[in-house]
Amino acid sequence: MARYTGPSCKLCRREGKKLFLKGDRCLSDKCAVARRTTVPGQHGAGRKTIKEYGLQHREKMTARRYYGVQEKQFKGYYVQADKKAGITGENLLTILECRLDNIVYRMGLASSRKEARQMVRHAHFTLNGKKVDIPSIICKVGDTVALKEKSKGSEKFKALLETADTAVTPKWLEIDLANVSAKMIAMPKREDVDFPFEEQLIVELYSK
Ligand code: SF4
Repeated sequence: MARYTGPSCKLCRREGKKLFLKGDRCLSDKCAVARRTTVPGQHGAGRKTIKEYGLQHREKMTARRYYGVQEKQFKGYYVQADKKAGITGENLLTILECRLDNIVYRMGLASSRKEARQMVRHAHFTLNGKKVDIPSIICKVGDTVALKEKSKGSEKFKALLETADTAVTPKWLEIDLANVSAKMIAMPKREDVDFPFEEQLIVELYSK
């Protein structure tokens, strides 16, 4: 799966909001969004008006960039969300929250989803006891994500575990600190998504 390898801060500046793509730096005064309010590019400072389609497109790009998902995969999630019962926009956010890389991030073991994705790619985790290296796996209620025994001994994870912030773990995950694992005990709800998405704009865009 292709992935964006350019500068993360540029993505936040393009959306005009913090997408929290770089861990601690995002909370510091080095954050590019806090320092520069213009859109990147030669004509960035001149771009002012944004119409209906533009708003919908920008909201989709915000969600894609926040979760680190490429267009084809994101559209696939939308199709799944549309088929499910309930509100399509909320279903879409729920599916994105259930991605394996997002769960590792929510466990407090990575400073950003990008870092979490890399950890999964490097096969540091198991899903229900089996080795996994696919960050886009959608987890279900009852699934358990755990740090591999071998990885628990690595210096990197020892240091991470000392500083892991499990206080931010959402209530749909049950953390087992002793085993460095998290069990999905419920489906995430809209109020569990701590970013002010206007998901109905994304639905409007795709349902044209
Ligand atoms: Fe975005 Fe974080 Fe860079 Fe700020 S520091 S612009 S929030 S990635």
